[in-house]
Amino acid sequence: MSIKQIGVIGAGQMGNGIAHVCALSGYQVLLNDITTDRIEKGIATITGNLARQVARGHIKEEQRDAALDRIHPADSMEAFETCDLVIESAIEDETVKRKIFAQLCPSLKSEALVATNTSSISITRLAASTDRPERFMGMHFMNPVPVMELVELIRGIATDDDTYKTMNQLVVDLGKTAANSEDFPAFIVNRILLPMINEAVYTLYEGVGTVENIDKAMKLGANHPMGPLQLADFIGLDTCLSIMHVLYEGLADSKYRPCPLLTKYVEAGWLGRKTQRGFYDYRGEHPIPTR
Ligand code: NAD
Repeated sequence: MSIKQIGVIGAGQMGNGIAHVCALSGYQVLLNDITTDRIEKGIATITGNLARQVARGHIKEEQRDAALDRIHPADSMEAFETCDLVIESAIEDETVKRKIFAQLCPSLKSEALVATNTSSISITRLAASTDRPERFMGMHFMNPVPVMELVELIRGIATDDDTYKTMNQLVVDLGKTAANSEDFPAFIVNRILLPMINEAVYTLYEGVGTVENIDKAMKLGANHPMGPLQLADFIGLDTCLSIMHVLYEGLADSKYRPCPLLTKYVEAGWLGRKTQRGFYDYRGEHPIPTR
């Protein structure tokens, strides 16, 4: 199946990144969120990020202008009726995602594909909540989408070969590389990454190290480009907590229990960079550890 127009649901840090790379690769893009303000904020972020790519010499001005011309706001699900593919990238909450699919599917043409950018939730279960489990897949982008090369592809139990082949080709056309993962909680990257981040939060919670020392230790001692707490703030602490819950419940193993300190930060609304406060406070000129 040939894909020309792509719908993106959720204009947050991942959704706007997905819209960005799709438009830059020549696809028409429709971007949706719960309010017009959020869609506009998403498009403003894309505009800023494309400008940065121009300034760094990664793309030409004409490419930026053409990409921006291809992105249009979609203020209702009906707007997706012409899309060949819709990628869902709303918050990591299964109830929210199911509601979105229930509203979306009646508007879609019968052959349209649906993908989810979920970090952890069962693709098979989400697919079963749609009218097209055979044309449904997990397409897990990495953050920040314009920079990171990997996309995890996850087939649900019913995903057919044509859908998989089309999505695999799309990953190539976006200039990215696919890794296939079986449909188990948190797939490959987050199955390995999130327990490490959760352990870093336990290390802080138990007083083994301060925020600064934990991040410094992992950057200089394990050669990680970012410390685990810095990375948690970058991902979003709400997303990190949701993924830990999916691992804990989905694998029924106490080794995945979310650290109570992670829960506390989320309860405070300190979700990391996106709310300007998490394990670091980003409101000043330089990030300052909050513990
Ligand atoms: P975010 O909080 O930045 O954005 C989520 C967006 O979804 C918000 O703009 C919100 O308004 C919108 N939204 C909520 N309910 C909606 C609805 N009913 N309809 C339309 N939009 C709705 O979160 P994010 O980091 O962009 O994460 C989005 C998805 O991507 C999640 O499933 C997450 O697990 C996944 N993901 C996140 C990362 C990461 O590093 N943050 C990486 C890969 C995948």
